Amino acid sequence: LVSRKRKPEDTIVNVNGTKIGDGSQTFVFGPCAVESYEQVKAVAQSIKAKGLTMIRGGAYKPRTSPYDFQGLGLEGLKILRQVADEEGLQVVTEIVTPGHLEEALDYVDVVQIGARNMQNFELLKEAGMINKPVLLKRGMSATIDEFVKAAEYIIAKGNDQIILCERGIRTYETATRNTLDISAVPILKQETHLPVMVDVTHSTGRKDLLLPTAKAAIAVGADGVMAEVHPDPAVALSDAQQQMDIGEFDAFYEEIQRFMKNY
Ligand code: PEP
Ligand code: MN
Repeated sequence: LVSRKRKPEDTIVNVNGTKIGDGSQTFVFGPCAVESYEQVKAVAQSIKAKGLTMIRGGAYKPRTSPYDFQGLGLEGLKILRQVADEEGLQVVTEIVTPGHLEEALDYVDVVQIGARNMQNFELLKEAGMINKPVLLKRGMSATIDEFVKAAEYIIAKGNDQIILCERGIRTYETATRNTLDISAVPILKQETHLPVMVDVTHSTGRKDLLLPTAKAAIAVGADGVMAEVHPDPAVALSDAQQQMDIGEFDAFYEEIQRFMKNY
């Protein structure tokens, strides 16, 4: 059902009026994890000032170590919702288990399924039965075919509002956190009718590569870009080294806009 052979037209994902996959670029910025009202508010104001409409932030964080910050859970979702409503933004946030899906739906506009859960088939099936868009990230060791089949799990249950997100894959290369598979973007655009975004933060893990990789994503036909922004990255409770501060965010977005104008 995700195949372009079956449906030649692009699927446009509609997030309460924000359209993803309609030929425009959609940007999703926000902190790695929701930490406090003040933290989310500062990022949200900066997003809104740019005329953007989406905010991301994790409330349930899938951390490698059980001793690392696990996220604020439902409290985090409530903070996201409150700030998003105050600023007129749409919330993108990760849900890690089918059990959390129902309670989360009151607070969330786009359900993110993270790399570590790309093949959590029960979660995919449940996400296929909700009436909200799903942002599905590529598993860190998933082939493109496995990624496409994970999306198929969602659409097979009736939900075609799916955004695919390339976020880098694990290779032998250590210069970047993951290896951004830029060719996955045109392959996914050719083989499926779904919009494709690129997460430049988790794919590179390097702030100095956010701008060039975002430009590359746009150049190869991505429908949008995701990146992490934190008001004070040095004290962030997760991914401290890779999040932009507000000043860096302003400069990043200004340069991306200049790039898109001349493209
Ligand atoms: C995230 O976007 O917050 C995240 C954890 O990313 P990924 O699932 O791609 O690692
Ligand atoms: Mn992160």
